[in-house]
Amino acid sequence: MILLINAAFLLTTHLVMTTALNIVDWRNQTTYWDARTGGIYALVLHHTVTPTAQGTLDVLNTRRLSIHYIADKNGTIYQTVDEANRAWHTGTGVWGNFVDMNDVSVGIEIVNSGDEPFPEVQEMAVAALSKAIVGRYGILPKNIVSHADFDPRNKEDVSGYF
Ligand SMILES: [Zn+2]
Repeated sequence: MILLINAAFLLTTHLVMTTALNIVDWRNQTTYWDARTGGIYALVLHHTVTPTAQGTLDVLNTRRLSIHYIADKNGTIYQTVDEANRAWHTGTGVWGNFVDMNDVSVGIEIVNSGDEPFPEVQEMAVAALSKAIVGRYGILPKNIVSHADFDPRNKEDVSGYF
């Protein structure tokens, strides 16, 4: 069974810890993004279903989609789109006054089947990355969301294990 839990609350509980980030540059691995025309106001968390970071990137490329960051199980973060650019990860769904979440968000794909716990080292890496992004743009807690938060009919990520 998959439970959906408020992502902002769970992230906040992890934010007290600080973790050194290991970010690998994969920004030459995708062309499926475009220029951002407005500001950044939201952070969107997904889980991948695909079991590896490379597999996740391959699936995104096949579907002509993209994400800013892929967080691997060992805590390594792969950056595939610059935050200044608009990644293609949210599909449909609105959140508050935001009609296109791709316009206003930074996205993180967390490597996870959706039916397994998240390793501590991975949770810590995602929390540290999230804290950095939230700090850079002054993102409000209410705008730290799971994909399922704003598209509950179509999406069930991030799973309640996070
Ligand atoms: Zn998603």
